[in-house]
Amino acid sequence: MHNKLISLVRDIYSTNEFIPLHAPTFKGNEQAYLAETISSTFVSSVGKFVDDFEHKIQAYTGTARAVATVNGTSALHTALHLADIKAGDLVITQALTFVATCNALYHMGAEPIFIDIETTFFGLCPIAVATWLDENAQLNDDGQCIHVASGKQIKAVMPMHTFGHSVQLDELISICEKWNLSLIEDAAESLGSYYKGKHTGTLGKFGALSFNGNKVITTGGGGMLLCRAEKDGLHAKHVTTTAKQPHPYEFYHDEPGFNYRMPNLNAALGCAQMEQIEKILASKRQIASQYEEFFAGSEYQFVKEPEYAHSNYWLNAILCPDINARNALLEKTNSQGVMTRPVWQLMHRLPMFASSLRGDLKNSEFAEARLVNLPSSPTGI
Ligand SMILES: *Cc1c(COP(=O)(O)O)cnc(C)c1O
Repeated sequence: MHNKLISLVRDIYSTNEFIPLHAPTFKGNEQAYLAETISSTFVSSVGKFVDDFEHKIQAYTGTARAVATVNGTSALHTALHLADIKAGDLVITQALTFVATCNALYHMGAEPIFIDIETTFFGLCPIAVATWLDENAQLNDDGQCIHVASGKQIKAVMPMHTFGHSVQLDELISICEKWNLSLIEDAAESLGSYYKGKHTGTLGKFGALSFNGNKVITTGGGGMLLCRAEKDGLHAKHVTTTAKQPHPYEFYHDEPGFNYRMPNLNAALGCAQMEQIEKILASKRQIASQYEEFFAGSEYQFVKEPEYAHSNYWLNAILCPDINARNALLEKTNSQGVMTRPVWQLMHRLPMFASSLRGDLKNSEFAEARLVNLPSSPTGI
């Protein structure tokens, strides 16, 4: 199996060189727009590409307002800030995620509650969330969701669309309505992924995208905050800059600003990448179907898009039969120059989140021991 898989990957990428997990492609106007930015001298916080890029993402996702930021983590941080998460508040999220989800919480002084995932698409499990809340939370007279044992307020649910596969949003939205919680979608991995026809990141109060170098499209580093309400979008734009009141020469700032604004240079790259996104996604889908066919009928289960969703197949993944099979595959492929990777270690194993509240995490542990990501860069663009 290992050798056949290695030949398949070498076939897909037509190379005998090292094959990374996810590399960007710049086959459109990237160079031209970057050159234009440099000759205009507007490389920094002012320039037309930031607005253009925001409008492109707005149109593409259908969100009310998109605000460009320096990276995905800062988009999440801003979302939490605007959702009124304060120090000491609790937020329900996944233990199986990239650390950025929890870092954003950490820097708010808020704490995660790790709830289990489901084992088909590896996103936050609505049943596990509902059960945990029923057993551990109460609504007080002001309608606030209180964690009974600590007396702390639970403010939000922050699911992550793992590898680009949408979580079950309708179910999570009902839970949020019942318990008076904000839904914040970590959509960093899911640009181009839809839940029942709606773009991921646009159903919650806020959604955060990432344009890091390994994501579906890249701006070098960058992120985008998707706001469901126009007024949140305006506020987001205000605080992600310096919260300065418009004036030709006076400097007056009416609240603390983050200065998380994306530079024009990065946005230029983003505009060129958005022109290529359909080609990129088509190539990724084609690669996914080759993996799916390869693993069909084997004891390795290819992770397919949910029936209720359309996935971008950001990172292709398989579930190995057990940890020994996983380790053997990682060892063999990586030693042969074909990069594969286990999933992130669960968040509660990291020192900064070791004492965080958590529910039963048996599905997360099951996935942690078996998931492997396969090379997924777009090709032939
Ligand atoms: C990539 C990613 C982020 C954001 O990453 P940045 O590097 O800050 O852009 C956040 N959450 C998840 C799950 C991610 O994969």
